[in-house]
Amino acid sequence: MAMTIDPDRFEALCRAQVGFQKPTSRRECPSPKRMVRLLTSRCSAREGSKLIDHISLCSDCAGEFGFLTEALRSERILVGDIENWLGSSQGAESRRPYSLRYSWGLASLLAAFFIVGFLVLRLVVLRSPERYRAAPEARVALLEPVEQKVSRQSLVFRWHPVQGVEHYVVEVFDETLSPVWKSLPLLETRIVPPDQLARGLVPQKSYFWLVSAYFPGGDKWMSPLEEFTLKD
Ligand SMILES: [Zn+2]
Repeated sequence: MAMTIDPDRFEALCRAQVGFQKPTSRRECPSPKRMVRLLTSRCSAREGSKLIDHISLCSDCAGEFGFLTEALRSERILVGDIENWLGSSQGAESRRPYSLRYSWGLASLLAAFFIVGFLVLRLVVLRSPERYRAAPEARVALLEPVEQKVSRQSLVFRWHPVQGVEHYVVEVFDETLSPVWKSLPLLETRIVPPDQLARGLVPQKSYFWLVSAYFPGGDKWMSPLEEFTLKD
C-alpha cells in the first residue's frame, strides 16, 4: 500500500498538534478491527492514511495501535509465518505454497514496520519541543466557535485580540485537516465567513479552524485548532 504525505496536510497537522493532545471524546476513533486491517495491509491507501492521521493525533488510539502491533508481531507474523518459512526450507515440493505465504507475511511485517516507523517519526516531529517553545494556546485564544454546534446563519469566528499584531488570518480545515478556506489579512478579531464557505460546509460534520497572528517584525503566533460543527 502506498502512503504519501501531502505537504499541506502535514503542515496543518504540525500546527494542530497542541489542540489534539487529548481527545474530548472517542466517538471518531477507529475500531481495533480497522487498526488490524491497517497493520495487515488490508485497507486502501486512502483509508490507511486517514487512520494514520487519526492515530498520530489521538493518544488513546496510539496506545491501542502500539498494543495491536506488538500482539500481531508476536502472534501472527513471528510465530505463524516464521514457522511456515522454516517448513519451506525442508522440502522442494512444499516450497512454493509456503514461500508464497511467507512473502505475504513478510509484506505485512514490512508494512507494519513501515507504518510504525512513519507514526513514530510523525509523533517525534510533531512533538519536537524546539518547534513549540511556548504553548501557542497561551498566545492566540479562540472565543467562538469552540467545540460547538452552530447554525449556518450565526457562524462567526471570534478570538481575543493580541497586542501589537499587524493582522490576523483565519483558516478552516475539514475533518481530515485538509484546508477548506483561508481569509484575507484581517485587522479585526472577528469575521463572518463568506456565504460561499458557509454554504459549502456539511452539517453534522466536524470542521476545525485556527487563527494566525502576524507581527510587523515578521513573527507569527498561532492559536490551537478548535473544532466546530454546523447543526443545519
Ligand atoms: Zn482515537
